[in-house]
Amino acid sequence: MKREDAMDYRLDDSLVLAAGTGKAVRMRAGQRLKLTNPFGTQAIDFWAFTQADIYEFTSMDNFRSVHSTVHVTSDTPLVSTKRRPLVSIVEDTSSGRHDTLLCACNADIYRQLGVTGYHRSCADNLHKGLAELGIRFPVTPAPANFFMCVDVRADGSLDRLLPASKPGSYLVLQAEADIIMAFSCCPQDITPINGEDRTPRDCLIDIFSPAGSA
Ligand SMILES: [Zn+2]
Repeated sequence: MKREDAMDYRLDDSLVLAAGTGKAVRMRAGQRLKLTNPFGTQAIDFWAFTQADIYEFTSMDNFRSVHSTVHVTSDTPLVSTKRRPLVSIVEDTSSGRHDTLLCACNADIYRQLGVTGYHRSCADNLHKGLAELGIRFPVTPAPANFFMCVDVRADGSLDRLLPASKPGSYLVLQAEADIIMAFSCCPQDITPINGEDRTPRDCLIDIFSPAGSA
């Protein structure tokens, strides 16, 4: 947490987002969530859904339309399908590279990469995380990909870069409405999007509430 906020928030919960797995958590407006990347290499696919209407969720196409950028920063909150801010980055010690262009990895991607059996995916992790909260959702929305470095070249093609964050880098996300935040510690171990050694790794989640709140 920012030093000036240290007295204003209390730690409610901490959990490990195990390599290759996902988790969804309910967040009230004003709560904050610290997402730590202990190795600096791990990409985290992210979604938020409003608790009032599961069909209002973070929208990458609306994000790019509202902010005229492809990168999520502290100046560009993630907006919903109704163009409302749902999640802001209030602190970021990472490389500051967070992608909004690439889809969540899914069974079809792994099949195209030559996997014949089951392979964990960010899409499955989203739906498993929501299912743990008793929620079924019919599709996989486009994620924000925290810590994932993707550049747009001048000719419009995409450059998938290696992770660029230092070990221990973290983001602090603030819920701007009562929402569900869903995370997938990307299980991609065939391409180097999670680092040259192609090894998914654990990340850490800490949840904070404003001091004095219930
Ligand atoms: Zn993935």
